[in-house]
Amino acid sequence: MQNMDPAALYVLDQLEQAGFEAYLVGGCVRDRLMGLQPADYDVATDAHPNEVQELFPRTAATGIQHGTVAVLHQGKMIEVTTYRTEGNYVNHRRPSQVAFVSSLRKDLARRDFTINAMAEDRNGQLVDPFGGQADLQAGWIRAVGDAVQRFTEDALRMLRAVRFAAQLDFRIHPNTATAFAVCVPLMRHLAVERVTGELDKMWRTAWPSRGVEQMFRNRFFRHLPPFSQWEEKPQARADLIQGLDAEKDPDVRWALLMGLFSIPSDQLWPRLRSLRLSTKRASRIQTLLELARKWPFPLEETQGKQMILQHGLSTVKQACRTSRWIKGWNCSTAKEQMFRIEKWAKEMPVHHSHELAIDGKQLVEAVGISPGPWVGEVLQRLMTAAALGRLPNEREALLKEGKRLGKQYS
Ligand code: ATP
Ligand code: MG
Repeated sequence: MQNMDPAALYVLDQLEQAGFEAYLVGGCVRDRLMGLQPADYDVATDAHPNEVQELFPRTAATGIQHGTVAVLHQGKMIEVTTYRTEGNYVNHRRPSQVAFVSSLRKDLARRDFTINAMAEDRNGQLVDPFGGQADLQAGWIRAVGDAVQRFTEDALRMLRAVRFAAQLDFRIHPNTATAFAVCVPLMRHLAVERVTGELDKMWRTAWPSRGVEQMFRNRFFRHLPPFSQWEEKPQARADLIQGLDAEKDPDVRWALLMGLFSIPSDQLWPRLRSLRLSTKRASRIQTLLELARKWPFPLEETQGKQMILQHGLSTVKQACRTSRWIKGWNCSTAKEQMFRIEKWAKEMPVHHSHELAIDGKQLVEAVGISPGPWVGEVLQRLMTAAALGRLPNEREALLKEGKRLGKQYS
């Protein structure tokens, strides 16, 4: 196995030297066995959170109600969690209360899938009570213990199963998959934030189409908030689902998912808001889908340049990519559209108002009327004219035209 991260090794050693048990656990062990670089390291220990806090000079108590103390070392953050079970599950959600336990095995038993329920000590010795390594080799996502019970405790695990299938290109083991049929209705208890969080993680994997196919096969959308409350029912459009793997931008992937629902334009915003995404992301996704849906074909130069001015080059490029799948263009049409956009962007002398050869202050002085909303409007019109090549991006010419336009507002 690859060398252990020095900060993780330091944490394991410090805990052991103080007489505690300490292991790497969960995703980092799985990733290391697969030869992947873990994104972060989680340590499990029998030391209690206050003991962990005393042992390390720099800690943060962000997850202390779940027994987690973050240890900061050499610019890295290692999460150290006391062995625990999850106590009673209320309403098929993970509990807010946890109970500490004394054995590593019990801690591993509360974890969702066999491949996530392994531990590794500082010498690379593996603790694998549920056959995680064998499942990793065979490519199975398999629940630890009885799948029906585990999905009943926390219905999010079903969505996590399909997310890991998408992330690792694994299949869901038949014993685990059969539990979906019984447990999927329990998804109605899930908090939207957790659902959106898992889907957002799925959009950052290599094969999201695998996850979405599984979601259709197992009728997730009928029960999963907020989708289950939407009037529109999703269609398993193979062309759009294929696009999910081809496009890497998570917001394009959200837009393609929304495309499966045939949502009328005036409903798009409330649906996106119901996903509890940030306003910024929801509005970007809305723009991508709206531009993609009404993408003019063929796109004329002036229209294209105006789109770039209004939305920015990167959004227009992503909208073009979204449109490829929404409109069903073939590959060469898509490439040609993209080529034009990039060519026009290069030709445009200005893309943003800050690239204009004059600013608001100079405009106000030249026009001689007091500042107001007119300043922004006139700058916008000057910028459009300069970007489209109708006016040179030069001080004299811009001020002259600015005076003419400004007078209309006086
Ligand atoms: P990733 O590569 O996405 O970070 P990960 O395995 O680290 O994968 P996390 O969501 O970060 O996944 O969770 C860390 C570990 O905590 C998991 O490996 C698993 O052991 C456990 N875990 C997380 N969520 C649950 C859950 N809902 N039920 C049971 N165990 C869970
Ligand atoms: Mg993780």
